[in-house]
Amino acid sequence: QSGSIEVIVGPMYAGKSEELIRRVNRAQIAELKVVVFKPAIDDRYCGGNITSHNGKQLKCIAIDGAEEIMNYIEKEDFDVLAIDEVQFLGEAVIEVCQRVADKGKRVIVSGLDMDFRGEPFSVLPHLMAMAEYVTKLTAVCMVCKMPATRTQRLVNGQPAKYSDPIILVGAKESYEARCRKCHAVAK
Ligand code: ADP
Ligand code: ZN
Repeated sequence: QSGSIEVIVGPMYAGKSEELIRRVNRAQIAELKVVVFKPAIDDRYCGGNITSHNGKQLKCIAIDGAEEIMNYIEKEDFDVLAIDEVQFLGEAVIEVCQRVADKGKRVIVSGLDMDFRGEPFSVLPHLMAMAEYVTKLTAVCMVCKMPATRTQRLVNGQPAKYSDPIILVGAKESYEARCRKCHAVAK
């Protein structure tokens, strides 16, 4: 049996977690053993669950790095490996996905394909290139209501600067989905 890598990408609010949860549920209905991981640093981590923006939940193992997945897969038996918010894991996750798929298993990962500047982000571009199946989801643009492919970062209500650090101390920041036209990055 041939393994495969499925990648689910898009901006925030596109329904990536929802889609991952849907695929995992269906695998479980098919009586496959599914193991689900998610980086513990994600702010939506709550008590060992993945929670989508519309409140759907799925049990998962919170991890600090891809090595923890490697340890798990060497010891435990499973049919399907799922990882949500994969952009928060390091480069090592690429090797993990390859190894699991090479063993004939199904790998499902989801994450952000672009950062707030609209540039290719983290391990997703690499994973998309290696995947058998890529699903690019869109959200709804919060400005013009057309399909949104990007994540707008707002600092005190204004578009974030290109050079802004990822962590801003003392500023109120938020994120929203936007299309190419409405997405803005300050110089
Ligand atoms: P992601 O994992 O891609 O961030 P989620 O699966 O967590 O997305 O959440 C998707 C849900 O977010 C949608 O089903 C919808 O209820 C809600 N939502 C909130 N804002 C938006 C938006 N701008 N566009 C689309 N869905 C949105
Ligand atoms: Zn728009």
